[in-house]
Amino acid sequence: MDYDYDLFVIGGGSGGVRAARVAAQTGAKVGLAEESRMGGTCVIRGCVPKKLMVYASSYPDAVEGAKSFGWDVDIKSFDWPRFHGKLGDELDRLEGVYRNLLKGSDVTIHDCRAKLHSKHEVALSDGTTVSARHILIANGGWPFRPDIPCAELGLVSNDLFLLEELPKSLLIIGGGYIACEFACIMHGLGVEVTMYYRNAQILRGFDSELRGLLAESMSQRGIAMHPGTTIVEMELAENRPEGPQPTGSDATMRAPRQEAEIGNNPKSETSAASGKPIWVKSTNGEEKVFDHVLFATGRRPNTADMGLEEVGITLGESGEIVVDDYSKTSVDNIYAIGDVTGRLELTPVAIREGMAFVETVFKDNPTKPDHELVPTAIFTRPEIGTVGMTEDEAMETGPIDVYCASFRPMQDAFAGVNQRVLMKMLVAKESRKVLGCHIVADHAGEMIQLAGVAIKMGATKEQFDATCAVHPTVAEEIVTMRDPVRST
Ligand code: NDP
Repeated sequence: MDYDYDLFVIGGGSGGVRAARVAAQTGAKVGLAEESRMGGTCVIRGCVPKKLMVYASSYPDAVEGAKSFGWDVDIKSFDWPRFHGKLGDELDRLEGVYRNLLKGSDVTIHDCRAKLHSKHEVALSDGTTVSARHILIANGGWPFRPDIPCAELGLVSNDLFLLEELPKSLLIIGGGYIACEFACIMHGLGVEVTMYYRNAQILRGFDSELRGLLAESMSQRGIAMHPGTTIVEMELAENRPEGPQPTGSDATMRAPRQEAEIGNNPKSETSAASGKPIWVKSTNGEEKVFDHVLFATGRRPNTADMGLEEVGITLGESGEIVVDDYSKTSVDNIYAIGDVTGRLELTPVAIREGMAFVETVFKDNPTKPDHELVPTAIFTRPEIGTVGMTEDEAMETGPIDVYCASFRPMQDAFAGVNQRVLMKMLVAKESRKVLGCHIVADHAGEMIQLAGVAIKMGATKEQFDATCAVHPTVAEEIVTMRDPVRST
C-alpha cells in the first residue's frame, strides 16, 4: 500500500523535531504536525525561557557581590516588560530556527492539531487526513492542576512566561523541579515568594543531604517555605468582603498574556487571566491572599482525545503511552517518545529516544535509548547537579563509602555571603565505582555534565583521585575528598 509519508510525527518539540529531521536524512518522506509553536515545551514554555529568567534573576546577587569586591554599583528596579519583550523576540527567533531546520531537511510541516484516525492514518485539524507507514507520537505533557474548587484561578508554569506584569506576591504549590526553580527565579526578581509543599522536604527522589541544604539556602534567602502544607480552598479575594488584604500593596489586575496571542494552543485557556488577588486557606488553617498562585504540581502526558486507545494503544496509570525498550507502542507501526511516555521527562532524553527510534526503524539498527546515569540540573539558587543513585538507593546495592565536603567558596567567603556548597560522592565499597554524585553550588549543572562523563564510563573513586585538581576552583573538591565521612 502507498502512504503519503514514510513517517508522520505528531508534536514539534525537541524529540519530535530531531526524529523527523534525522529520519528525513535517511531519505524517508516525513511529515510533522504541531498544534502550537514549533519547539514545544523546552523552547517555548520550559527550559529556554526558564533559563533566561534564571539569568535575569541572578543579577541582584551579582551586584551585591560586586559591591563586596569594591565596586561602586547599585541595582535599581527590574523592568519586566523590557525583559519580557526581549524574551518574546528570542523565542520567535528560536522557533524560526526550528522551522528552518525542518524545512532544510525536507520535512513537511502541518500547523495543525493531529489525532490518530486509524493505525496508519492521522486526522488533522484542517480537515485533511494523511497516511503514514510509521507514526511517531511526541506530543509531550502539560502542567496539571489538582482537583480543588477554583483551581483554574491558579497559574501553571506556562502562564509565568506570559505575565504582563510581575506579581508582588506569589504562592507556589508543590516542591518539585518547577516549584523550586520558579521560587528562586521569582524571588530573585523581587517577588515575595511562599511555598507550600505536602511533603516534609522538597524534591522527593533526590539525595536527602542535597534536599536539606537547598531548602535551608532557599529559606535563608527569604523564600517562605512551608513543609507539610497545601491548600484546601481558594477563591477570588474580592468574593470575601471581610477577608485579609493582598500581601502585595497594589495587587489589582495582573493578567498573564494568553498564549493564544502568540500561538494557537487551545489548552492555554486559563481563567487565571483575571489576574485578581486570590484568597487561599491552607491545611494548617491559615488564610492568606496572594497576587498569584502557581500550581507546580507535576505534569501529565498529552494523551486525551488523541484517538490512541481507539487504535489499540495501551495507556498506563497516569495516562502515559506504554512503550517497549525501543519506544514501540502496543501497535506495531506506532512509536512514542518523550514526556508523553512518562519515562524521564527531560529534553535531552527525548532527543535521544528520537534518535534511537530512527536507528531502529529507518537504519535497521535496533537501538534502545539509554536511561541509565542521566545527569540533570535544577536551576535553583544555589544550583543542583546530580547523577546516579541517592545515598538511600546506593545503600541498597551493598556496602558503600560516602564522601562529602561542604564549604564556603572563596568568592562567597570574601564577599561575606553565607552560602555553603555541597559535594557528595557515593562509592561502592567493593568495586570502588562511583554510584552517584550530587553537587549543590553555583554552576553545579556545568560541573555535573563533566563528572557525568566519567561516572557513565564507570570511573572508580581512585580514578577521580588520580586526576589532578584544577586550583583554585570549587569543582576541584570532587577529586580531593580523601576520606569517607561514613561507611555503611
Ligand atoms: P515534580 O513531579 O517534580 O513535582 C511535583 C510536585 O507537586 C511534588 O512536590 C508533588 O509532591 C507535588 N504535588 C503533586 N500533586 C499534588 C497535589 N495534588 N497537591 C499538592 N502537591 C502536589 O513535577 P514538576 O512539575 O516540578 O516537573 C515535571 C517534570 O519536568 C520533572 O519531573 C522534570 O523531569 C521536568 N523538569 C526538569 C527540569 C530540569 O531539568 N531542570 C526543570 C523543570 C521540570 P510529592 O512529591 O508529594 O508527589
